[in-house]
Amino acid sequence: MRIGVLALQGAFHLHKSHIEAAGAEYVEVVNTSYFEKIDGLILPGGESATILKLIEIVGIEESLSDFLKTKPVWGICAGAILMAKKVQNPEQKCYGILDIEIERNSYGRQLESTEQMLDNYLVSYIRAPKIISTGNNVKVLAQRNGFPSWVEERNLMATTFHPEINHNMPSPWHKKFVKMCGQRKALLTALEQHVLIGAYDSTKTTGPTVRSSGCD
Ligand code: GLN
Repeated sequence: MRIGVLALQGAFHLHKSHIEAAGAEYVEVVNTSYFEKIDGLILPGGESATILKLIEIVGIEESLSDFLKTKPVWGICAGAILMAKKVQNPEQKCYGILDIEIERNSYGRQLESTEQMLDNYLVSYIRAPKIISTGNNVKVLAQRNGFPSWVEERNLMATTFHPEINHNMPSPWHKKFVKMCGQRKALLTALEQHVLIGAYDSTKTTGPTVRSSGCD
């Protein structure tokens, strides 16, 4: 299993040890060629406006946008901002894949950064955004001050906190994300095989001979 981490700016390298400890391979995604090689993508924390600019500069906007619609994605802090349907403070471009509205820098400046114990695991909020509303299909799995801080919708996950700073590896979120990617990969493989067998059955005369020789 290969987990990509968008490596344009921010805290991408800290994910390496967590991903490896969760039993997957860490891949730094820096151009379009990486998208077909990975089973899931982490959009790391950093500066969302800067990451957006860099996405444009390196020319991965379209392939990233396609990838976000198909495979598991986990957005952390700035990454969660990129996934949102709507961004405030100030308004900015977002990919709109996750049905949340989010407000940037809601808890003040870098110095006001804090920590929280979640299921016995210490996580950090660094100039964090606040998820101010969620759509009906979004599951809220953790909160901070009454606002969602960990949400999930289908194969998309977002946290407004950073678990990767903790040296206890893998973090429960890395473990969960790797598992999510594995399940998605298995499903896609099964679907692919189903489509191939279906295609063979409906075109028996032109199908691969290996199957007919085995069954006849
Ligand atoms: N304040 C950053 C932003 O708005 C997010 C901070 C983070 O990723 N830790 O993009």
